[in-house]
Amino acid sequence: MIHRLDDATVERIAAGEVVERPASVVKELVENSVDADASRVEVSVEAGGTERIEVRDDGVGIPADDLELAVAEHATSKIGDIDDLEAGVGTLGFRGEALHAIGAVSRLTVRSRPRGADRGAELRVAGGEVVAREPVGCPEGTTVVVEDLFYNVPARRKYLKAEATEFSHVNAVVSGYALASPGVAVSLTHDGRETFATEGRGDRRSAVMSVYGREVAANMVPVEGTDEDGPLAAVGGLVSHPETNRATRDYVNVFVNGRWVTASAVRDAVVEAYGRQLASDRYPFAVLDVEVDPATVDVNVHPRKLEVRFADEDGMARQVRDAVESALLAEGLIRTTAPRG
Ligand code: ADP
Ligand code: MG
Repeated sequence: MIHRLDDATVERIAAGEVVERPASVVKELVENSVDADASRVEVSVEAGGTERIEVRDDGVGIPADDLELAVAEHATSKIGDIDDLEAGVGTLGFRGEALHAIGAVSRLTVRSRPRGADRGAELRVAGGEVVAREPVGCPEGTTVVVEDLFYNVPARRKYLKAEATEFSHVNAVVSGYALASPGVAVSLTHDGRETFATEGRGDRRSAVMSVYGREVAANMVPVEGTDEDGPLAAVGGLVSHPETNRATRDYVNVFVNGRWVTASAVRDAVVEAYGRQLASDRYPFAVLDVEVDPATVDVNVHPRKLEVRFADEDGMARQVRDAVESALLAEGLIRTTAPRG
C-alpha cells in the first residue's frame, strides 16, 4: 500500500540531507557566523558534538522579530530569487534551510542581539517545534546551541561514530574555516579544553601556526598563480614541504571563493604536483584559495554544499597543479614536474 509520509517524517528525512553528523551542524553554524560579518567565532562542543554544540559570534545579529523566520523552512536573508542564484552567490549560505533542518533533529537555541540593539531575544526549538521565545540580555551577536543531536531520530543517532571520530570531523571543519578566514579570530574547544585559537589578524601563516602548530607553519611555501588563459582568476596560499605530510587528505584545505569545500579535483591536483616526492598514501598540508568567476562554478550540487562543479574542471586542475609545482620547484623541493597525463 502506498501512503503519504506524515510531515514530521518528511522533515526528518529532508533534514538528514543537510545534517549528517555534528561536523555538518558546525559547518552550517560557522558559515552563518562568517556570513554575518563576525570578527570572532567561538566554537565549543561536548562529546564530539553529539551532546552539545555551541557557536558564538559577534556578527550583525538577528532582529528579535526575525528569529522565527530564521528557523523557518526556506527562509534566508541572503538571496532574493533564482536570478541571484544564477548570478553567483557571494555568501556561504543561501538555501535558508540549515537552521530549520538542525531544529528538526535536535534541541536548538538561537540567542541574538543585533548590533546597536539594546537587548536580545532567544528562541528555542525542539524536534521542529518552537517551544519558547523570550527577550534576554546578551552581548551583541549570535549564539546558537544545538543539544542532543538526533535525539528524535534514533536510527541516525545510532550511526554516529565514536566521540573522538566525530570530533576529528568537527576539528577539520573549524580548522578549515579558521584557515579560510585568517581575519576572523576562530577558536575551538572540546569538553572544556581549547583545541586551537587563531588571532584573527589576517595573516595566513600565523593562522596555520595556531591550527597546525609551529613546525608545520615553518615548512609551508607560498603559492601564487594567475593565468589569463585559464578558468581560474587566481590561485594562492601555502603548501607544505613534501616531508611535512600526513596519512589523510584532511589537511589539504581548498577554498573556492572563500568557501571551504571537498573539491576532490582541486585536492588531487595539489597532491599530483608533488609527483614522486610523496609516497602514494601520504598527503601534504595545503591552504589554497581558488578564485573563480562565480558564474563558472556551481555550488548548488550538494545538499551540504561540499562538492562544487567547475565549468572547466580540467583547465582548473591544470592551473592549480602548475601553480603548486612552480612553488615547489622555486624552493627546490621537487626536481622536475610530473609527466602530463
Ligand atoms: P542561509 O544561511 O542559507 O540563509 P540558515 O538556515 O543557515 O540559511 O539561516 C537562516 C537565516 O538566519 C540567515 O539567512 C540569516 O539571516 C540568519 N542567521 C543565521 N545565523 C546567523 C548568525 N550567526 N548571525 C546573523 N544571522 C544569522
Ligand atoms: Mg546558513
